Amino acid sequence: MSEIREECGVIGVYKKDAEGSGLAALAYMGMMALQHRGQEACGIAVGRGKEIFFHKNVGLVEDVFKDGIIPTLAGNMVVGHVQYSASKSKNDKQNAQPLVLNYAKGQLAICHNGNIVNADVLRREYEQGGAIYQTTTDAEIIAYTIARHRITSESIEMAVFNAMKVLRGAYSLVIMSPNKMIVARDPHGIRPLCFGTKPDGTYVFASESCALDAVDADFVRDVRPGEVIVLENGVMRELTGHCEQGGGKICIFEYIYFARPDSIIHNQLVYDSRRISGRLLAEKYPAQADIVVPVPDSGVPSAVGYAEVSGIPYEEGFGKNRYVGRTFIRPDQLSREHAVRMKLNPMSKYVEGKRIVLVDDSIVRGTTFKILIKSLREAGAKEVHVRISSPPYLYPCYYGTDVPSFDQLILYNHTVDEVCKIIGADSLAYLDLEQLLQITPDLQGTGCCNACFTGNYPVL
Ligand code: SF4
Repeated sequence: MSEIREECGVIGVYKKDAEGSGLAALAYMGMMALQHRGQEACGIAVGRGKEIFFHKNVGLVEDVFKDGIIPTLAGNMVVGHVQYSASKSKNDKQNAQPLVLNYAKGQLAICHNGNIVNADVLRREYEQGGAIYQTTTDAEIIAYTIARHRITSESIEMAVFNAMKVLRGAYSLVIMSPNKMIVARDPHGIRPLCFGTKPDGTYVFASESCALDAVDADFVRDVRPGEVIVLENGVMRELTGHCEQGGGKICIFEYIYFARPDSIIHNQLVYDSRRISGRLLAEKYPAQADIVVPVPDSGVPSAVGYAEVSGIPYEEGFGKNRYVGRTFIRPDQLSREHAVRMKLNPMSKYVEGKRIVLVDDSIVRGTTFKILIKSLREAGAKEVHVRISSPPYLYPCYYGTDVPSFDQLILYNHTVDEVCKIIGADSLAYLDLEQLLQITPDLQGTGCCNACFTGNYPVL
């Protein structure tokens, strides 16, 4: 039940000479699989002939695309997007993606996951050159940057490469020009992006491999940091070396919380990373307890790992109401308490008289934990020992996640011992940073962004 939110998921589907709305249907299914990455708005754009058609709105995928909309979206390439609105973007239809623009060479549709850290500087620069904006999104800044470079570049893909030399930050992009699909990942590869193929020659690109599974595509590989992939006339070209490589800096929070547990990122099943984190926690921070209880659903794999190593039985201590959406949780304290209680209800039968190890992925403000521990005690729990499967969250993220402002982070003003008292726990322990780097082999050395724990930002 993390208080940190991802801000987007992207998908691209391409098949030479595809007719009808089959590819849009695949994108729809993939976006359903990516819905956890953004629930506030979504959209699909299709390329047909030299034209791009699109439909987007605020709402969940199944609501925005009800009433027979998918059959109207025929084409041989499709891009799609699910959005959790960034703090600088209003959550409205205008800001929903794909962003479709007209420029000197025709139409461009763009879907973006991430955050451009120099977007404000570029926005002002373009404004002084006469730019008028339709939205407040970084996607529009990216589109402008590409469009400007297209005038002096030999191709759209070279314009994308040239734009990548200007854009700083995190971006996984799926772009459609009148006759090409272009996919790009920032030089640090901060946000995930992978692709797969279907036996009939369909290519599928997505933020996470769970979307490939949803459309029965075979996983091929992750898009490499700094790579641009072009699909044109049924041929895929993989391009690297035209922009500086930043080294792999995948967001470690994808493994801790954002990505779906059944996704594979950089050869690692996300579920396994979380399970390993629980095992490491149990080794370093044991507790005298009767049951291990996860905070659903985010704490489940780590709690399984903790139970495995500690030998303490795993128990589902909470019943979860799956129909209370994340957006229901409003910031004022009273409604937050009601919202948490509506969502997670402790089961007295299993927690009464028990010493509990309560496992989750993170503590941000601490308010949710305080409510959960109070509810466990009211249900009869004797002790509650909290174990967190990531290190203390201390620094803001500038790469496309939505976390409270700096001074709202509970550890900004308090020590771990103080946090333990504030949330009402009997003990509290966090995974160490060096342990965190063991949750997937790829992350040892310099292979990840962990700036929210260390303040070491890969790009500013
Ligand atoms: Fe991920 Fe934290 Fe880096 Fe943001 S700062 S990209 S949440 S690891």
